Amino acid sequence: RGSSPESCNTSHRKHDLPIHGVSETIIGVLGGGQLGWMLCQAASQMAIKVVVLDPMENCPAGALSHCHVVGSYDDSVTVEEFAKRCSVLTVEIEHVNVATLEKLEQQGLDVQPKASTIRIIQDKYLQKVHFARHGIPLPKFMKIDDPESAQKAGDLFGYPLMIKSKRLAYDGRGNAVANTEEEISSAVQSKIFASVNNLELHYNTFLATLSAALGGYDHGLYFEQWAPFVKELAVIVARGRDQSMLCYPVVETIHRENICHIVKAPANVPLKIRKLATDVAYKAVSSLEGAGVFAVELFLTEDGQILLNEVAPRPHNSGHHTIESCFTSQYEQHLRAILGLQLGDPSMKTQAAIMYNILGEDEVATNSTGFISYQLSCLQGEPGFLLAHQLIGRALGISGATVHWYDKPEMRKQRKMGHITIVGPSMAIVETRLKFLLNEELLNGD
Ligand code: ATP
Ligand code: MG
Ligand code: MG
Repeated sequence: RGSSPESCNTSHRKHDLPIHGVSETIIGVLGGGQLGWMLCQAASQMAIKVVVLDPMENCPAGALSHCHVVGSYDDSVTVEEFAKRCSVLTVEIEHVNVATLEKLEQQGLDVQPKASTIRIIQDKYLQKVHFARHGIPLPKFMKIDDPESAQKAGDLFGYPLMIKSKRLAYDGRGNAVANTEEEISSAVQSKIFASVNNLELHYNTFLATLSAALGGYDHGLYFEQWAPFVKELAVIVARGRDQSMLCYPVVETIHRENICHIVKAPANVPLKIRKLATDVAYKAVSSLEGAGVFAVELFLTEDGQILLNEVAPRPHNSGHHTIESCFTSQYEQHLRAILGLQLGDPSMKTQAAIMYNILGEDEVATNSTGFISYQLSCLQGEPGFLLAHQLIGRALGISGATVHWYDKPEMRKQRKMGHITIVGPSMAIVETRLKFLLNEELLNGD
């Protein structure tokens, strides 16, 4: 872990040669979180070498990668140096230095998906403008020009009103909800405090954006109409270098406090809705450039409309289940796509699957003055970890359940620590198995 650049195998660029073998090409991945970790798992099965750039010395992907370079994917010099050892560069997070990727692309580096795609997606407002131009159905949205914008947005869209950070958002941490016009500024403020609790190393910038927003109405935030959804759906779309496209089955995603909690595959919606969701996802990804898998998050409204929430230009939490439930996992598919190999079969090989995210819990403790205090994080061996480990222990006894523990050294509230996928012969059976897993958890918690 944490190898210096010199200790890694270097590679020459081969983008002018046809890509023929799987072991010849070195894939560089910006980001080494759990998505990078699962990409490395798929890569090692196919004897593909993956090098990872991530600032955290003990990031999940570090241990499984061919080489982990410790450094920031937001720093141009670091990214340029890192790129020298890669034949193809891809991302497991969209919050990377896109100007550097554009420069490297111009110099001939193979970036998949294209830097233009990452530029559009890493700014949610730009993303909305892009998809609106391509006729994709979306919740209404507007930028914030001045203090009057708030009133205007409220008049136009009504309440509750969604306030979103344009950039650096993840797991709902850039979102705030205002129920009245007066609540707009306090919603932004509460978002700042919430993000302090969840602060991650490279999210300092995110915090700064929100702080700036508090002082006035700057360009770091935008308004979005509340989408009165009955379900959230997601579709993973894969595109090869030859432009061939394949869609994974539509799944239902269930969020808790804005963060993905449970994914059910396939989604229990009528065929008409499945078709519509797949069409919208296909059309959205068609408007973007480059190879790889893309996740399209959607809202299903009561009147059967599908609205696009956002797209991720990479493997996604809604596709974790594909490791156990589909013929080709989203991770293997991403590797196939960016390497120019034939795309694999995305269909399900089990009747049903549920993915359950193991999220970090708050720790409540009594401090020396006798007052209750909340620990912001806990370490291996402390209660938060023990609870998660108990859950894992029970999952091991459930037929069709597979545990994925990311081995993050520190637990924070709502941090994604691992996940459990349960597959089975029907959704009813898989749901029963999940209930068994979680009810037991409640009993143990008592
Ligand atoms: P991630 O990238 O982890 O999916 P994010 O930080 O980019 O999350 P969003 O996807 O924008 O956040 O929103 C997170 C969740 O908040 C959505 O999945 C949905 O549950 C809710 N949400 C977002 N936008 C709206 C909206 N316009 N109306 C109603 N609910 C919304
Ligand atoms: Mg997002
Ligand atoms: Mg989202």
